[in-house]
Amino acid sequence: MIRAKDINLDTPLEGLTPGGEIYEGGTAAMVNTGSWRTNTPVIDFEKCKHCMLCVPFCPDVAIPVKDGKRLDFDYLHCKGCGICVTVCPFDAITMKSGGEA
Ligand code: SF4
Ligand code: SF4
Repeated sequence: MIRAKDINLDTPLEGLTPGGEIYEGGTAAMVNTGSWRTNTPVIDFEKCKHCMLCVPFCPDVAIPVKDGKRLDFDYLHCKGCGICVTVCPFDAITMKSGGEA
């Protein structure tokens, strides 16, 4: 079976999985989902309490955590859905118009 990392524009049709199904985990990391973004979340670290509530809600795992603190967004993968804005109980995240980080 062909691996997702080996699929590219030169891959013949017969090399693809039926229905384009992906059988491996973690393949989203290979896609720059941030390029689709039309709105962009912005963190205010003065307000953030590092409660981590936003982290598991992000469908693109675009909120990195290090040493018990959340870091700035991974804008390569953040697609701007706004879920993190909704779940933050401290209003530490706002959405700005446009896809630029
Ligand atoms: S806007 Fe959506 S994709 Fe981006 S960090 Fe927030 S929850 Fe994740
Ligand atoms: S939910 Fe809000 S306060 Fe909690 S870590 Fe995320 S941005 Fe910070």
